[in-house]
Amino acid sequence: MSFLSHLECGKCGERHDADAPQNLCRKCGKPLLARYDLEAARETVTRATFEKGLDTLWRFAPLLPVRDPRHVVSLGEGMTPLLSGGRLGLPGLLVKDETGNPTGSFKARGMSAAVSRATELGIRRFAVPSAGNAGAALAAYAARAGATADVYLPADTPAPIWRECEAAGATVHAVKGLITDAAKEVQARKDVFDVSTLREPYRIEGKKTMGYELAMQMGWTLPDVIVYPTGGGTGLVGMWKAFDEMERLGLIGSARPRMVSVQSEGCAPIVRAFTSGAEHAEPWENASTKAWGLRVPRAIGDFLILRAIRESKGAALAVSEGAIAEAKRAFARDAGMLVSEESAATLAAVRAMRDSGDLRGGERVVLFATGAAWPYGL
Ligand SMILES: *Cc1c(COP(=O)(O)O)cnc(C)c1O
Repeated sequence: MSFLSHLECGKCGERHDADAPQNLCRKCGKPLLARYDLEAARETVTRATFEKGLDTLWRFAPLLPVRDPRHVVSLGEGMTPLLSGGRLGLPGLLVKDETGNPTGSFKARGMSAAVSRATELGIRRFAVPSAGNAGAALAAYAARAGATADVYLPADTPAPIWRECEAAGATVHAVKGLITDAAKEVQARKDVFDVSTLREPYRIEGKKTMGYELAMQMGWTLPDVIVYPTGGGTGLVGMWKAFDEMERLGLIGSARPRMVSVQSEGCAPIVRAFTSGAEHAEPWENASTKAWGLRVPRAIGDFLILRAIRESKGAALAVSEGAIAEAKRAFARDAGMLVSEESAATLAAVRAMRDSGDLRGGERVVLFATGAAWPYGL
């Protein structure tokens, strides 16, 4: 079922056993990436393999980490629609609509992959620091797996998220400070498996399927530009990885979209590092934004995000809270979509790039509506 071969450090290249539970690289402390035997996969996997099959991201199982399908923990995640942008203000704009995922965001993709693989490796107790959606997704997938979830949320996280996590049976902890403070509390626990963003190698595998779906939905081509709201960067790094895998599988050519990373002006460490030419992003002080998923002052995968943006000749830009709020209203009014602030930030960025001439007419631009509005309360 899976062509998973090993795990490889994204920084130093050290090889790790994929059939044992792993967090960060034991040599340098950076994120591990799943590697597959793509030579062997190329013999059996074709475009047709993926054009039919399950209505979930598990359609891409040969390039996902679960070896025995009985261990898959699924709530119907993935295979989301690629919609036209309607009257959002840029002809040819496409929206990858992740709002219909279980628990209302694309975090479901990552948690389905991580919880499935961990279940296969015998793990029964999970914990995550979260700005909200990751906690809600872990709570649901752990419930589905009959496992336990401890969710650590900044104390100011909106109430609907707490109720959602508790309803699924998770133990929810209030943390003073931000997601980075919550992460420290999870790391202090030795009795649970930490599924923090990129501290565990398989959430990114679930999220990379957005790249496979996008290519398939566009007739095995890629758009000219992808606009992505970046917190920990799993989706952006995951898609970039997926494009590489797909090329080596012979599914697509060598053309790549420009990857545009969007953050809020209240927390833009990746934008700052991109602009200054740095390889790593300095932590952002006093991070503040209503786009909760973008309130990530420090990302352990910062160098992977920056590498993907630069290799793609992309960009990173910050948008204001006002522009996010206006874009959220426009999504509802002009496209009929009730999206989260993070999703709205991508539209604010598209509009800014259109106005500054950074988007040329006739380009195929895909923005990611990563989450619905409802998990945070409308
Ligand atoms: C977590 C989250 C993000 C940021 O995702 P990363 O892949 O970690 O950068 C964006 N939008 C929503 C709705 C989120 O929940």
